[in-house]
Amino acid sequence: MSAPIAIGFIGLGNMGHPMAHRLVEAGYRLLAFDTNVEAVRRFAASNDCEQPASLAALAAGSDRVITMLPDGGIVHEVILGADGVADHLKQGAVIIDMSSSSPVGTRRLGAELAARGIPLVDAPVSGGVVRAVDGTLSIMAGGDADVVQRCRDVLEVFGKVFCTGASGSGHAMKALNNYLSAATLAVSTEAILAGSRFGLDPGVMIEVLNNSTGRSNSTEHKFPAFILPRKFNSGFALGLMAKDLRLALELAHDTGAPASLLERCSALWSEAEAELGFRADNTDIYRYLESRVRD
Ligand code: NAD
Repeated sequence: MSAPIAIGFIGLGNMGHPMAHRLVEAGYRLLAFDTNVEAVRRFAASNDCEQPASLAALAAGSDRVITMLPDGGIVHEVILGADGVADHLKQGAVIIDMSSSSPVGTRRLGAELAARGIPLVDAPVSGGVVRAVDGTLSIMAGGDADVVQRCRDVLEVFGKVFCTGASGSGHAMKALNNYLSAATLAVSTEAILAGSRFGLDPGVMIEVLNNSTGRSNSTEHKFPAFILPRKFNSGFALGLMAKDLRLALELAHDTGAPASLLERCSALWSEAEAELGFRADNTDIYRYLESRVRD
């Protein structure tokens, strides 16, 4: 019997922790890494994994390296920085970036790695922490079709895989998805605040919207689970959503697509981030807009 595939997993945060846990459960050998030693300690406390001391050790021992990091700049540094993953990767190994990174940056990273004979798949995810735990994420995979195919078994541990095309296309799809997600959350919030001021009950409004044409993931999931009970704890940082909007805007500007609503939406989320801080929850956009209600 051949040895199980070894997976180096970098970034054990809100999403990375449950995703890496699923790989352990599925029987993969896991090498866990995070610059936050507490995140590694928490993960290793309940998961059978190796804890390489450096990116070099992780890369040297892995058949697949998965990154689940805040943004593409950090991914670039981890892969191509001094003593990074690329310098130590095994022959035949594949790098899979599951972070929500810049599509334009990923195209460049893919080309830089290809010149060194290293394949890259961009495979960002949608669905949030709950679906990361369940293994029902939506995965948008960009890259050479045969390389994506080689990674399919691993990716399917996390959810449903959609092949989006060439390198960077997964990240483009993800940024645009999150534009719609952020926009529906913000416009639903404006509608709920206006309705409440008029005398409508927010719970009734959400129920009506969810049975009418105004429904969205925001009204179906985020409002009932995190906003109406005023928990504001979805596990997706407001700063990460604001970053995704800036990536979508970069894409729209690069392609010359009309983007007046995207510009306004991105500005709103960046303003909220400046006031509430990067680590506020994305559902805190409700509290941000609520604080702007005029008497
Ligand atoms: P997070 O901030 O909870 O986790 C990021 C982890 O990366 C942290 O543990 C941090 O210590 C680690 N890290 C940062 N720099 C590092 C480095 N140089 N080397 C090693 N580790 C490093 O973020 P998250 O919510 O898990 O999101 C991760 C990615 O997934 C982001 O790109 C985000 O946009 C995307 N995403 C998040 C969600 C969500 O619901 N949270 C959903 C879909 C996609």
